[in-house]
Order: sequence, then C-alpha cells, then structure tokens
Amino acid sequence: MSKTLSIAFIGLGNMGGPMAANLVKAGFQVTGFDLSASHLDQAKAQGVAPASSAQAAAKVADVVITMLPAGKHVLSVWQDILSTTKPGALLIDCSTIDVESAHAAHRLATEHGLTALDAPVSGGVGGAQGATLTFMCGGTELAFSMAKPLLEAMGKKIVHCGEAGAGQAAKICNNMILGISMIAVCEGFALAEKLGLSHQALFDVASTSSGQCWSLTTYCPVPGPVPTSPANRDYQPGFATPLMLKDLLLSQDAAHSAGAQTPLGARATELYQRYLETGASEKDFSGIISMLRS
Ligand code: NAD
Repeated sequence: MSKTLSIAFIGLGNMGGPMAANLVKAGFQVTGFDLSASHLDQAKAQGVAPASSAQAAAKVADVVITMLPAGKHVLSVWQDILSTTKPGALLIDCSTIDVESAHAAHRLATEHGLTALDAPVSGGVGGAQGATLTFMCGGTELAFSMAKPLLEAMGKKIVHCGEAGAGQAAKICNNMILGISMIAVCEGFALAEKLGLSHQALFDVASTSSGQCWSLTTYCPVPGPVPTSPANRDYQPGFATPLMLKDLLLSQDAAHSAGAQTPLGARATELYQRYLETGASEKDFSGIISMLRS
C-alpha cells in the first residue's frame, strides 16, 4: 500500500493516539478526529491533521481506522461516515467490541460496496506506543492484504484469523483465557503463602513446569520474581481491571449467543466484577490477588 494514501483515524485515546502517531512516523498522511478536544490536540502535536468531524476526516481518506470504546460507538461512527466515504475505501476497526457488532459493521460496509476488516489488538498502551501490537484480523484475503502494510507500521505480529468477526472472536477467547489463568496463578500464590512456601520457590518450579503461563512468567501477581510486573509497583496498570472485565463480559455475551459452555469464564467474570466493586478501577488486573487472599 502506497504511503501517499490518506488515512483517517477516528478515536485518538490511550491506544488510538500513539497508533496514529506511529502511522505518521512511518510516513503516512493521517487525518484524525476525536470527540475529546485534548486528545485531538495531542494527536496534532504528533503530526496528525485534525478534522472537525468523523465525516470530514473520512471523506478524503483511502483507509479509515476506528479505535473506539465499544460496539455502539463503532456502529454509530461507521453509519455516519459511510455515505461520504470514497468508493473503494478500506475500513479497519481496531477497537475491542462484541462479535455481533463486528458482523454488523462488516454488513454495513458491504452494503456500501466497501471493504472492511476487524483488527483488534493486544499489547496495551506500551505496545501502541512502541509499535509492537499484535493484530488479530477478520475479513477477506483482499481486505487483509490491503491492511497489512498499515498494521505493520503499528504492530509486530499481524495474524489473519479468518472471515468477518474472526479477529474479535480470537481477541475475546484469548482474553478469557488470560482472565482465568491470572486467577489460577493468584490462587496458587495465595495457597503457597498459607503453606509457608516462598514466592520465589513457587515461581522457580511453576515457571519451568506444567503451571507455566504468561500470567505467571510475564505478569507475575506477587512482587519479586518478575521485576517488571505490575505487582512491583503497587499494581499500577498495565492492563487495568475495567478493561479485563470488559473483555470477560464480551466473552460471556459471545458464549451465550453461540451456546458455548464457559463455566470458568463465567466465574472469572463474577470475580473481576467483585474486585472492581472493591474500588479497583485504577488497579492492574493482577491486583485481584489481594481480594483472593482475603
Ligand atoms: P480511550 O477511552 O482512551 O479512547 C477512546 C477514544 O474514543 C476517546 O478519546 C474518546 O473521546 C473517543 N471517542 C468515543 N466516541 C467517539 C466518537 N463517536 N467519535 C470520535 N471519537 C470518539 O480507550 P483506549 O484505551 O484507547 O481503548 C480503545 C479501544 O481499544 C477499546 O475498545 C479497548 O477495549 C481497546 N483496547 C485497549 C487496550 C488498553 O490497554 N487501553 C488494550 C487493547 C485493546
């Protein structure tokens, strides 16, 4: 994809702001819009040309990228821009949204003769800043091949998961595993404490045997064994608890509509809901160990 193509980036928050800035750094022309004037100003300082509305940004763009809070925001913005978007434009939604809304967004694009891709990310704000995100993509081969060079300017791993909605499905399944595995690791450490086993001893064994997982080896929920984990900075995020709960709730919506049994996913959702109610909105999701201990 030529770097002379123009990109509209809608939703310039914690994730979208640095992602748009990385597109600018890679040499793309980026026009942006956000409802928040301060986010728009920050993006402007990074070389993004500010637009007065989503429509104004999108109507001159060959590719429109959205990075918004939830499915209702994505559908509303896509509905707004579709009538004025250039023929042949590519629409990429990078937000984490419910699978049904992702399908609805694809249908909207198809009805207007446009190509669409769902491309949610993992890697958090650090990954957005460092252009090291993983993109999980759903859509046709054509949409994927058109989007890939752009996504490579914002991430380091770009996976084509399947047809429309497959990117969101992969994201939600992955994060349900993450929520469950973090609770499992926290319970392991809480039990070890009661049994008089040191954190380091459990880590040394579990990290090199069958208990090994990302929640243990990268995001260890107790201070010490992994110095970069949020546990070492009083559980400052990282991956904030409300975002973990959001993704777990999406997994339960998807399980319900698909008729899948996810008993541990359901329990993890309840536990994160309870943890949030203890006042954990500013805490990393690994901080749930404090609730599990008590
Ligand atoms: P954020 O709240 O920081 O940013 C969202 C932005 O969208 C805000 O600036 C808001 O003003 C803007 N917005 C809302 N409605 C709009 C509209 N109609 N038109 C234009 N702008 C609008 O959220 P974020 O952390 O950047 O997350 C964005 C998406 O990425 C979410 O779906 C989230 O689940 C997902 N995500 C976030 C992380 C993370 O660590 N923050 C990681 C992976 C995925």
